[in-house]
Amino acid sequence: MSKIIFISNRLPITLSLSEDNIEIKESIGGLATGLKGYHQDSNNLWLGWAGVTKEEAQGREEEITQRLIKEHRCIPLFLSEEDLELYYQGFSNSTLWPLFHYFPNLTTYDEAEWQRYKLVNEKFLLGLKGMVDPGDSIWIHDYQLMLLPHLIREEYPHAALGFFLHIPFPSYELFRLLPWRDQVLEGLLGADLIGFHTYDYARHFLSSVRRIMGYEQEMNVIKHHRRSIRTDVFPMGIDYEYFTRNRQDVQHDMVELLEKTQGTQVIFSVDRLDYTKGIPGRILAYAQFLKDNPEYREKVTLILIVAPSRTQVDLYSDLLREIQELVSGTNGQYGTLGWIPIWYFYRSFSQDSLIAIYKITDAMLVTPLRDGMNLVAKEFIASRTDKQGMLVISETAGASSELGEAVVVNSNNLIETANGIKEALDMTKREQIERNTIMHNRLKRYNIYYWAKDFLDKLLQQHSKWEETQVMRFDNRGMKNLLADYKKAKSRLIFLDYDGTLMGFKPKPDMAFPDEDLLKLLKKLKSDPRNHLVIISGRDKDTLEKWLGELEVDLVASHGLWVKEQPSAHWEQTEVLDNSWKDEIRPLLEVTMDRTPGSLVEEKEFSLAWHYRKCEPELAQIRLRELTDTLLSLTGKGHLGLLDGNKVLEIKDTTVNKGRTAGHFIATKKADFVFAAGDDTTDEDLFSIIDENQYSFKIGQGETKARFYIRDCDEFRSLLTKLSEK
Ligand code: UDP
Repeated sequence: MSKIIFISNRLPITLSLSEDNIEIKESIGGLATGLKGYHQDSNNLWLGWAGVTKEEAQGREEEITQRLIKEHRCIPLFLSEEDLELYYQGFSNSTLWPLFHYFPNLTTYDEAEWQRYKLVNEKFLLGLKGMVDPGDSIWIHDYQLMLLPHLIREEYPHAALGFFLHIPFPSYELFRLLPWRDQVLEGLLGADLIGFHTYDYARHFLSSVRRIMGYEQEMNVIKHHRRSIRTDVFPMGIDYEYFTRNRQDVQHDMVELLEKTQGTQVIFSVDRLDYTKGIPGRILAYAQFLKDNPEYREKVTLILIVAPSRTQVDLYSDLLREIQELVSGTNGQYGTLGWIPIWYFYRSFSQDSLIAIYKITDAMLVTPLRDGMNLVAKEFIASRTDKQGMLVISETAGASSELGEAVVVNSNNLIETANGIKEALDMTKREQIERNTIMHNRLKRYNIYYWAKDFLDKLLQQHSKWEETQVMRFDNRGMKNLLADYKKAKSRLIFLDYDGTLMGFKPKPDMAFPDEDLLKLLKKLKSDPRNHLVIISGRDKDTLEKWLGELEVDLVASHGLWVKEQPSAHWEQTEVLDNSWKDEIRPLLEVTMDRTPGSLVEEKEFSLAWHYRKCEPELAQIRLRELTDTLLSLTGKGHLGLLDGNKVLEIKDTTVNKGRTAGHFIATKKADFVFAAGDDTTDEDLFSIIDENQYSFKIGQGETKARFYIRDCDEFRSLLTKLSEK
């Protein structure tokens, strides 16, 4: 039976080791809760760091491993202290974390840390050894493991592989600063499905892939070698029901605190200590609010909880000092004998205690400078079963894209945030209830369980699409059959498209002339008297003549309009076409060219083409859409057709096509072996007339009528080489 393997930096358990005992406790937290149902199911597993270093385990690794697998279905990794320093505190938290949260000035780039990051990702791969069976799915979590999808894909090519990023993916302009950006993207692209919290993060990722790697995309699917990788948005939810229940386990000091706040309106803020959370700015905004609205003094209290985090790092201790100074400054400036404006706590509280405060909060302040999602905002809304209290959230928190009914502010704008506090406190109960009800319904539906299920369902869907294409992949068995059929054939008809099939794409169309190896290969194929070679291309006849004329093979130019059949040395036109439509379409293409730097218009004998290979890819996509819309409305159902080729849009008379011209060869040559290869939409007409028992090959990705897929030109050339050697 197939299983799911979850992988995250930390396992969802906490270990305490004493000399004679190993205590294991299950951790709580968003991810562990969401996946618990799956993890406890049947034979599923979870791989991650156990929270104890190799040095601390003191040779008890085997014993701990056995217990964790048996009792908790967790596979522990024992990272060394040096691993943690370089991979975790180093590359993960001093490079990726600040850069991805838009703090390039706090980002450090260190080769040794990067090397260790690679090494630890490899350790995770090793941790899987002997655990993965055919049919298994693997779900990897977060920024510490971005190289792992590729590593796993190399080792287990058939696994359904998903990756979810829990932090923001930054815009291309920031991501490109990373010295190892290509490797990180390549690492992620080993997955079948890559999930993000928001549409913006997914968009930024796609844009980086397009600009840095140059991989083609169709909507949210990336075409990468022989696979398609889907990116999608899965905004992580919370355990809604859990937060709506009444709480028993409120900490003692919290009960006291709640009593003391009676008589004032409560403003609440709770975060881990982190510079991304915008805590200093929040205190300043509160002080500004007190300054601008003196009537609120002594009538409000800000409860400010800061939970300790990453305390070994200097940056965090500086931040802590800054927060403490701002709290005492504000209390000193506005406090009175009977009133403390900010009640500040530097420690963690249980979730039950937090829920107790949520329930009496009038204005909840969640104003990070940048946050992947922010669960506190969602927990606050869910806890308020009375639908009262108002959330003030910054637009740079991922959660704000789902919580638009809250008071949304720019956390860098002090005055706006201060006004936001006032707006929340002044809001009528009726309006609060109205706004909160909408957000409640959303959180109830897309909760943490739905999130996990949604991701896993989509992962299987995406993977099964890949499996379908695998059926058509030309493998060793296909090769054996092809060679056998080729050998026994008495007469062979071989159609070869040129660009993208025999030759890779070049920056300019006229640079794609045939290299020596290609000419040699074609000559060799031609030298077998049983072979009849036809080069069938969209190129004009003069180019084909110049580049391939010396081979003395049959040539088909302009997608079938012109034919030069051996032994004749003359080109024959297959149809007489009227070209008057060009005068209407040409100006349109020229305007598009002027508005899109790097693009060019090419006039062919019976077609017009707009090339955009050298353009800024995002702009090119927009222009392509605009142009296609306009052209479709102009060409309608007439004889003109649009061909969406490889970085080129071509408008041509469809009376002529490769299939029609190839049909003439098939009918006259009567070959017992037919072979056709091509890479773009114009070749589909050719594939459609090839008998299903014969051989047709699509080079690259995308839907096709061909019988087999081949990865790229290089792979195709080596196939031809094998044939030529038979
Ligand atoms: N939390 C807690 N006790 C605290 C502070 C925070 O239990 O004293 C919990 C909080 O309820 C939430 C999580 O920690 O579930 C913080 O998640 P969030 O997405 O808001 O921020 P992160 O810390 O992941 O950046």
